[in-house]
Amino acid sequence: MLHINEYRSIVGNQVIDELYILAEKLKGFSITNVNSTAMGGGVAEILNRMIPLMRNLGLSVFWEVIKGDDVFFDITKKIHNGLHGVEVSITRQEFKHFLEINQKNSEDFKNWADIMYIHDPQPIGLVKKRKQFKNKWIWRCHIDFSKPQRDIWLFLKKFIEKYDASVFSAPAFSRRLSIPQVLVAPSIDPLSDKNKELEQGFIDSVLSRFGIDKDKPIITQVSRFDYLKDPVGVIKAYRLVKKYTDCQLVLAGGGAKDDPEGQKVLKEVMDEAEADKDIFVLLLPSDSNLEINALQRASSVILQKSLKEGFGLTVCEGLWKEKPVIAGAVGGIPLQIAHKYSGILTYTVEGTAYWIKHLLHEPEYAKILGQHGKQHVKNNFLITRHIQDYLLLFLSLFNRDDEVNL
Ligand code: UDP
Repeated sequence: MLHINEYRSIVGNQVIDELYILAEKLKGFSITNVNSTAMGGGVAEILNRMIPLMRNLGLSVFWEVIKGDDVFFDITKKIHNGLHGVEVSITRQEFKHFLEINQKNSEDFKNWADIMYIHDPQPIGLVKKRKQFKNKWIWRCHIDFSKPQRDIWLFLKKFIEKYDASVFSAPAFSRRLSIPQVLVAPSIDPLSDKNKELEQGFIDSVLSRFGIDKDKPIITQVSRFDYLKDPVGVIKAYRLVKKYTDCQLVLAGGGAKDDPEGQKVLKEVMDEAEADKDIFVLLLPSDSNLEINALQRASSVILQKSLKEGFGLTVCEGLWKEKPVIAGAVGGIPLQIAHKYSGILTYTVEGTAYWIKHLLHEPEYAKILGQHGKQHVKNNFLITRHIQDYLLLFLSLFNRDDEVNL
């Protein structure tokens, strides 16, 4: 595992020195993160990278994953979709089941800390315990919250307002709330297996393992198989391009334990791909970070054609590799891409196809987009900035005079 000091070569000494100074002020405090999956999706990706680095800084940071049955995860996926603005129907019985599972988790929970950092709606009900522990509670929302379904929003709001602070990924997601709202964008780890530099020989070996031709342009989308990532729309865009330009499409994805829809979407993707030998639908195990890195680095164009998106780490991942990224102009994606400067924002299948063709035919322009994108990620979306934001947030929760010895 890498040490936080190894990031000095990327972000400079000052950034790391400041992290140590902030962490020193939090010595003695414990922090427990709680979410609903240890693998798959952006939240697990970030926690996996961030927690060891925070420990290097001397902090007592923990991570717990709540447990639930299949019914619970069906309900939480509906909540997830409803918050993203998709119409869903959740019955009274289902809301009740959601609360019962939260109650059960809070009864079994052991790792109560000075700061409870709760991620997304699944474990939101743990906050009921706050009276007992008199600690600080943060609710971190990773979802595109700009148009939530009203009944779901009202249900969650009752819990959110019991927290000391809420954290959102983009300004557009802020809501009318009685508690402070903080804007913290997610981040990528530049030294992780997912993002570090790779030898060309390794990249080529990954392509050959999957039967992908390294001499024909590759268009890639890496995503869970989720309707909101629009993998079928990606295939349609590829088909429009393919009429004029020979290319290959890679759709690489795995499941997340808290996402029960994956299999259904995967089947639709397979049906749409039919027998096209230039479409590679890769269902990858959860530890395929080097393979994903290689696929992204081998690509001529990276897509993230989301219809809704909390942030979209895959956009940052592509940009960090200096790739031209074409992505849906939704949720947190416009924070990462300034249209025609650090990538391309699109709204439709046709628009996506138009820009893929354009970038395949204008490699110099594509290269400049990627270079601007990398610089933007370096300035704004690296894990060190993210840790700094969190440490400042933690400090802000305590009364300056008595609880933290500043
Ligand atoms: N990812 C992965 N394997 C997959 C699909 C996705 O490792 O098969 C990673 C991807 O590289 C990214 C994260 O999971 O780091 C997805 O985060 P994002 O914010 O793009 O989407 P989310 O899944 O959280 O909606």
